Amino acid sequence: MALYEENDVYISNSISRKKELFTALNAPNLGLYVCGPTVYSDVHLGNCRTFISFDLVYRYLTHLGYKVRYVRNITDAGHLENDADEGEDKISQRARLEQLEPMEIVQKYTLGFHGVMSRFNAFPPTIEPTATGHIVEQIDMIQKIIDEGFAYEKNGSVYFDVKKYNESNDYGKLSGRKIEELISGTRELDAQSEKESPLDFAIWKKASPSHIMRWNSPWGIGFPGWHLECSVMSTKYLGDEFDIHGGGMDLKFPHHECEIAQNKASNGSEGPRYWMHGNMLTLNGQRMSKSTGNTLLPHELFTGETDKLEKGFAPTIARFFMLQAHYGSQLDFSSDALLAAEKGYHRLMAAYRKLASLEPSAESTSEFKVAEWHKASYAAMNDDFNSPILISQLFEATRTINSWENKAPLSASDFKLLKESMQAFIFDVLGLEDIGAQGSGQKLDDVINILLDLRKQARDDRDFSLSDAIRDKLADAGIEVKDGKDGSTYSISL
Ligand SMILES: [Zn+2]
Repeated sequence: MALYEENDVYISNSISRKKELFTALNAPNLGLYVCGPTVYSDVHLGNCRTFISFDLVYRYLTHLGYKVRYVRNITDAGHLENDADEGEDKISQRARLEQLEPMEIVQKYTLGFHGVMSRFNAFPPTIEPTATGHIVEQIDMIQKIIDEGFAYEKNGSVYFDVKKYNESNDYGKLSGRKIEELISGTRELDAQSEKESPLDFAIWKKASPSHIMRWNSPWGIGFPGWHLECSVMSTKYLGDEFDIHGGGMDLKFPHHECEIAQNKASNGSEGPRYWMHGNMLTLNGQRMSKSTGNTLLPHELFTGETDKLEKGFAPTIARFFMLQAHYGSQLDFSSDALLAAEKGYHRLMAAYRKLASLEPSAESTSEFKVAEWHKASYAAMNDDFNSPILISQLFEATRTINSWENKAPLSASDFKLLKESMQAFIFDVLGLEDIGAQGSGQKLDDVINILLDLRKQARDDRDFSLSDAIRDKLADAGIEVKDGKDGSTYSISL
């Protein structure tokens, strides 16, 4: 029996605002679509958190035995500077600034994005379609929406008719917004606007002669509206109705609301059955924002080359830190929080390594009941992918393992279950990497501890020039020693 048949997974479905039992349309096949990045600049950490959250979802569903088709798009055209269908294409604008071809910008930042995600040990999607690779399909969907009477053409652009759609459908269903409030909340259209209502959104925009990224269409030369590509690419690869759609909270409105409207208007189905939204990342208690300078890029996090952190952190530690919060809650990045996560991570990995050196006993005499622990660990993940609860389960096992010497007071079968589950949860599901076991990490740890012991000896002998010299030389090598009540610890800047 596949694991998914024994595990009832519950998902907080944004569209019903309820935690619902997940049932796959076509088990063991499962379709997952996640809105990918617009590749016009370096990916920021908030986006990384969203993609790591959905990597967890992908990993867990795969672990349960589903054959997941994971589609995550690359937006390489059509995303304008603001949501009001105005301004320049973000990629064209960047191309002008960097004096490159738009496709060079796309290539540069796509590679950068892939590089960062692989450092975080996030699996690539199984299909990664691009907007420019699906212009024909986008034109087809626009034509269908026009044919169904839910869009109109004006001077070479095509707009989605939100009021018309709302007569027979519920625009605002996902975001919980009411169309009357939306209308009163939008500014009046100016005289030259082509839209019949300020709520309408462009699904095809006429391109000005200076616009570089443009294509022929039945309505003239132009480019597709940003919201359209996700409707097109999700349904093309996953079907008109599919299982799960994910994305950052900031995309709920208007992007995802527009996706639902386009799906329903063109093929009668709303598309995904479960909507999942990842929450924001803040930095030192403040919203991350380029304009206030309160930002952190992945490479600054890894190297520590920033005034926002005391030192750099390995990507797997940052990943571990992020997974200590539920994907649906806000999470604050700070040096102290990362340092605490780093300590926890090393404790967990040390316990995992210790497990390999232990032997089982004839029978289980431990108060730690492996079968119950195993069940509770799955229950945590089945409850809307609750990684913080899973991690607290792993820490419970860590404390127990640390109390054992030579032999684990567990029967061979309990011991095997504990070992295999620790391995599966730490590496397959949470996607952590053992940096201590990589290369000479463990040996380095041993050597530094020898030096710290020598330094302690020197201090006990009141040979402070020697103890200070050891500390300073280690600092020169990027290893910072910290003295505390319970002895000295160290951290390495990577
Ligand atoms: Zn999208």
